Amino acid sequence: MIRDRVKKILQELPEGVDLVGAAKTRTPEEILEAIEAGLKTVGENYVQEAERAQELIGQRAKWHMIGHLQTNKAKKAVKIFDMIETISSMKLAREIDKCCEKIGKVMPVLIEINSGEEEQKSGVAPADAVSLVREMSGLKHVRVMGLMTMGPFAGDPEESRPYFKKTKAIFDTLRGMNIPGVEMRYLSMGMSNSYRIAIEEGANIVRIGTKLFGERT
Ligand SMILES: *Cc1c(COP(=O)(O)O)cnc(C)c1O
Repeated sequence: MIRDRVKKILQELPEGVDLVGAAKTRTPEEILEAIEAGLKTVGENYVQEAERAQELIGQRAKWHMIGHLQTNKAKKAVKIFDMIETISSMKLAREIDKCCEKIGKVMPVLIEINSGEEEQKSGVAPADAVSLVREMSGLKHVRVMGLMTMGPFAGDPEESRPYFKKTKAIFDTLRGMNIPGVEMRYLSMGMSNSYRIAIEEGANIVRIGTKLFGERT
């Protein structure tokens, strides 16, 4: 089942759009099944779940942190992730930089944009994104490589479109600024119900859970 769904989505995605399998609550065995069907990148929301999955899967996949990262988990996170998609403050960025320096790593990161400007959601406010990226460009062990957004929960995926558009506009602005050390390459937007619209609006990473693994119970 997982196998067939992974293959179907991979076939459907246009060239240049990468699939991140959003794996929260899934067992390491389920994740492995997805990888054996061709999934290249696993998205994890929790450091601990990622560690557990990696015991079985190891480096057969790339690992992206897509959940909110607490500063006290940065040390572990920099060891086990290939990209952190959810940077939203200079405090967290500095902590990651410090932890990476110790292990001689440069961490590719995305800035999470709170495109719906929702109080309860993490991410940087759209108006503060440019100054955060500017400030982060001075960090030697963190490399800004793009933006990520969730957008407000919407039953109708069309309702997500304005938030994807807004995030793409920030992406284009930042790209046009050519900030040294910053490479605007990835735009991570869209989930199971909204990835088609996200791709229309310029996403080149989509994070899909339910449509690969089935409903979460
Ligand atoms: C769970 C999750 C997804 C995927 O959600 P689905 O609706 O199951 O596809 C994408 N991004 C993040 C950050 C998530 O936590």
